[in-house]
Amino acid sequence: MIRIAAALTIALFAGTASAQSERGLDIYFIDADGGAATLIVTPERESILIDSGWPGHDDRDPKRIVHVLKDVAKLERLDHLVTTHWHTDHYGGVEGLSKLVTIGKFWDRGLPGIDGPASEYPDGPKADDPLGIAYRKASEGKRKALGANDSITLKGNLKAIVMASGTEVRKIPKRRPANPLCAEATMHPDDPSDNARSLAIKFSLGSFDFLDCGDLTWNIEKDLVCPFDRVGQVDLYQVTHHGLDSSNNSVLVKTIKPTVAIMNNGSKKGGSPATVKMLRSIPSIKAAYQLHKNAKTGPEDNTDPALIANADPKGGQFIHVSVTPDGKSYTVQIGEDGEKKSFASN
Ligand SMILES: [Zn+2]
Repeated sequence: MIRIAAALTIALFAGTASAQSERGLDIYFIDADGGAATLIVTPERESILIDSGWPGHDDRDPKRIVHVLKDVAKLERLDHLVTTHWHTDHYGGVEGLSKLVTIGKFWDRGLPGIDGPASEYPDGPKADDPLGIAYRKASEGKRKALGANDSITLKGNLKAIVMASGTEVRKIPKRRPANPLCAEATMHPDDPSDNARSLAIKFSLGSFDFLDCGDLTWNIEKDLVCPFDRVGQVDLYQVTHHGLDSSNNSVLVKTIKPTVAIMNNGSKKGGSPATVKMLRSIPSIKAAYQLHKNAKTGPEDNTDPALIANADPKGGQFIHVSVTPDGKSYTVQIGEDGEKKSFASN
């Protein structure tokens, strides 16, 4: 009898272990109405949030993040918070979030006075900035600045490599072949803001690759792929800077050849007609999703209504990408009940 019970225990334990080992990678694009909040949950159930949305609105964005983390992904804590740059729509939610959930580690592009002189941080956060004070307090003793080429150490097989930080792009030890698309590259006037200094991070699981460039702007996007490609092909592209056309350099997007693009625009922010047009012109893109219908433009300047998560400006619906444990394929779904579209990784 004891022997049977022991065998059953082992069988049950083995069953649990194999169910856990079969988990894949989940990426949730959480609606922050023109802010950024992308939650990644690794096969080992480690959680990484890239940007924390806006402050205010009764902590709307922190509450939406915690809803997805706890109620959808069934996790109790946030292991990593990455802040791509120092703009309110990317780190404003930290104060509210830190009250609602335990945050393990903080990663950012550096803080003025700690990681470099104030001149390298044109948009702060200054010492008297309430959001900056809240960030410094929440992250004290738990934060690390990331430079280009650094990586975030994670359990398991998911890799997270920094492609750009503080206007520097990733250095490749061996020069790669010249990128012929650079012949058509154009330049914009220099961007003195923190957008140009955004972190850009590539996440890879097997053959699946996801690129999140925060709000990186045109000229640094070009540097990522010119004179040679430092990024490589990606499957999933977070449309940079909420879809504004001061970002989303077509030379970058053509070079990295994404299959799926997801834009974290708001009802009245981002989603520039020029960006929507550019995405339509990229042959590799099979589906371009938007978090919001752009209320300022017509149907011709929005994507297919079936690929828009929030037709109602009040929003709140997320987009979920679910990658198989081997990284060979993935599905994209609006919310928990939307139609799943399947794609093979490149
Ligand atoms: Zn932004």
